[in-house]
Amino acid sequence: MLCQVFAVVEVLSGVHRVDGVNANTYIVDYVDGEKILIDTGMPRSIQKIEHYLSQIGLKPSDLKLAVLTHCHIDHVGCAAELGKRFGIKTLIGEEDSHYVTGERRLPPPKGLAGVGFRLFGAFLSFEPFKPHATLRDGESVGKLRIIHTPGHTPGSICVFDAETATLFSGDALLSSKGELKPPSPSFSLNHREAIHSLEKIMDLEVENLCPGHGEPLLGGVGRKLGLAYEKWKNL
Ligand SMILES: [Zn+2]
Repeated sequence: MLCQVFAVVEVLSGVHRVDGVNANTYIVDYVDGEKILIDTGMPRSIQKIEHYLSQIGLKPSDLKLAVLTHCHIDHVGCAAELGKRFGIKTLIGEEDSHYVTGERRLPPPKGLAGVGFRLFGAFLSFEPFKPHATLRDGESVGKLRIIHTPGHTPGSICVFDAETATLFSGDALLSSKGELKPPSPSFSLNHREAIHSLEKIMDLEVENLCPGHGEPLLGGVGRKLGLAYEKWKNL
């Protein structure tokens, strides 16, 4: 099958963003030049990920792990298939693991988005899977540190590379038009908790942000977040 050609987007040295898989999927160095995936995009995105990897001289089986920032379909959609076809092990925040095995279901989003989910929910499902392991706050995956940032989902995590002060935030912190954006109120299980979790991120002095949605932001993110948080904390 023909595959649309996507440009190689090396966001930072050793960090690639795979475009067009909604949400952003990143290919990241985690130890000794070995690479992992952070998130996996929507179901049926594997061909795009595979194609991107081929453009940088890799194949899916070169990736050892996929760290999943949370259990939503646009982040875990290809996890089951990546495991079955290429032996890629999946890691997810402890409190989200029951939602990807199918043991538990999250309530639908709030507001209009929830109406859409009720109507089209049958088309918005992913193949359940058992994660290889679960992750807790403060654990490391190679050089990457896991930060538990609950609220968007109970087990939402961010992944922090202290060497480059780069944060892979999933949906815990987003960007839009060059600005930081808070997690979505309608898609977050506990929006107040999601905002409160950003305090943990402020402690990290983040320079660069690779969000689950929106463009990566390079430089000065910690300072911007400090300013934005003052507005968001009363949302
Ligand atoms: Zn999400």
